[in-house]
Amino acid sequence: MRLLLVEDHVSLADELMASLKGQGYAVDWLADGRDAAYQGATEPYDLIILDLGLPGKPGLEVLREWRAGGLATPVLILTARGSWAERIDGLKAGADDYLTKPFHPEELALRIQALLRRAHGLANQPQLEAAGLQLDESRQCVTRDGEQIELTSAEFRLLRYFMLHPGQILSKGHLAEHLYDGESERDSNVLEVHVNRLRGKLGREVIETRRGQGYRYAGVGA
Ligand code: CA
Repeated sequence: MRLLLVEDHVSLADELMASLKGQGYAVDWLADGRDAAYQGATEPYDLIILDLGLPGKPGLEVLREWRAGGLATPVLILTARGSWAERIDGLKAGADDYLTKPFHPEELALRIQALLRRAHGLANQPQLEAAGLQLDESRQCVTRDGEQIELTSAEFRLLRYFMLHPGQILSKGHLAEHLYDGESERDSNVLEVHVNRLRGKLGREVIETRRGQGYRYAGVGA
């Protein structure tokens, strides 16, 4: 999943970038409201974390612009402590959730996971589950019939994306756009290698190849 972090407090942004990358997200970081307004509307993010006090353009205005333009991406706002007015304005402007600074990194991690599941119609799953597999997002491993299967970080990122889109045909280009940040080189051969390694660990039938179209997480037995 690819996230946009909009935060002008550099040390907080650094900390969040490290934490989010450690959780297997591809993250782009912006500190200016004008840049965020543009990039958030043009790049295919799966979720946006938006600070409200920003240089260039206030976060609330950025959010209103996105929603007025039809952007449906989940947005989690970061608000100042004690500012209930800010939280209410943010929710009215179309935020899906908020966190008050300072916050515990684990709370942010769990809110992001919940927002992503909800955005994909999987709010009923406290843990991602499909095709007889359960994904443990905090430990980045998968279990089947109580047996734990270890994953590399790249395999985890790919499997999480598949499990959030069960039954959907996903082209290599689409996968690359959602698994790598804006700075990374996107190589579809590497993607193919990871798909094959996942098949080796989980069984060939779990990920189907649709010739000329892409991959489909089959959802067999789900
Ligand atoms: Ca700020």
